[in-house]
Amino acid sequence: MVIGIIKEEDQRAALSPDVVKQFVNAGNEVLVEQGTGETVWFGDSDYQNVGAKVASTADEVFKSVDVLVSLWPLSEEQWTKLKSEAVLVSNFSPYVDSTIPDMLQQLDFTVFSMDMIPRTTLAQSMDVLSSMASIAGYQAVLEAAQVLPRYFPMLSTAAGTVAPAKVLVLGAGVAGLQAIATAKRLGARVEAFDTRAAAKQEVESLGAKFVEVEGATDDTSAGGYGVDQTDEYKSKQRATIAEKAASSDVIITTAQVRGPKAPLLITRKMVEGMKPGSVIVDLAASTGGNCELTENARTVRHNNVTIIGDSNLAAKVSLNATQLFSKNVYNFLNIMITEGRFEPDWDNVIIKESCIARPELVDA
Ligand code: NAD
Repeated sequence: MVIGIIKEEDQRAALSPDVVKQFVNAGNEVLVEQGTGETVWFGDSDYQNVGAKVASTADEVFKSVDVLVSLWPLSEEQWTKLKSEAVLVSNFSPYVDSTIPDMLQQLDFTVFSMDMIPRTTLAQSMDVLSSMASIAGYQAVLEAAQVLPRYFPMLSTAAGTVAPAKVLVLGAGVAGLQAIATAKRLGARVEAFDTRAAAKQEVESLGAKFVEVEGATDDTSAGGYGVDQTDEYKSKQRATIAEKAASSDVIITTAQVRGPKAPLLITRKMVEGMKPGSVIVDLAASTGGNCELTENARTVRHNNVTIIGDSNLAAKVSLNATQLFSKNVYNFLNIMITEGRFEPDWDNVIIKESCIARPELVDA
């Protein structure tokens, strides 16, 4: 099989040279667009040294590959350049835009969305959502620390004692837990909130305080994801968050429910009640944001509070993000490629749930 990657508008690359080597050793050819790894400090020669071929343009990759791996979906124009019956592996977020699978179904490709891989123990090594969320949680704290006009740790100096920064983390899933761990390592005092009952123990095990709001909707059948809450719960939650926000120096928001829109947790009024110089980092920016004033992919200032809206912070840790994404893709493709042939077992739940379009479905 010929597996290809192209240069994308991202600081990561879709496959690292290490993983390319594994694909080549397993009997595949790998085609890499020139310059693909430059933002990760991988030169073309790093890919060539492990057996990949370097193509001078993306078009050259499109016309030759059986499997195209990308971090982001291709544009419609790029799709037209692929061989028919190509296999696409990317992140399509069909739970955000439900029209995507229907649109892809019109084409002659087999399409896998890595972000649809079930969150099960068996699929853990392929879970790009967790890999990227964990890095984003870490980076979110560093972004806040860069902007905050104060220390994170408590310090006793000859000139007096500096109190530790107060960090509030909203949403204690993979990103939130990594944000908590990172803020704790930097010495901040950390509180966290999540609607999932299971999150309390995880938050406390990291040494942070769990903020309790009673009456959350049971989420045990939601596959580990948060669920939408009642209006009564939301208003109790808002009152609690408003009180906590007013005394926080940093708020990291990571709350998501599986759907097109992130829950709104921080209102304009809450931002206006925060201390001057405070920072909000909103990882849910691309799905509307957890803060009313968030602008996606932008940093804005309101009432002396800085609001960083960025859902792609993992890309800033480009080397580790590339390594983990690549490994996830390798582990995923490995269950479908046998001795250079693409032979998916359509009864395998990981393959079935992550496949969002395939030609056979049209014929059936
Ligand atoms: P996510 O990105 O979908 O959401 C982030 C967090 O936001 C979740 O913890 C969610 O409960 C929380 N949230 C939703 N609505 C909220 C609200 N109104 N207020 C506050 N918080 C809210 O979640 P995720 O990080 O992808 O993880 C989701 C779950 O999946 C977790 O339970 C995680 O442990 C589990 N998980 C399991 C596996 C596995 O078993 N392989 C892998 C990864 C994650």
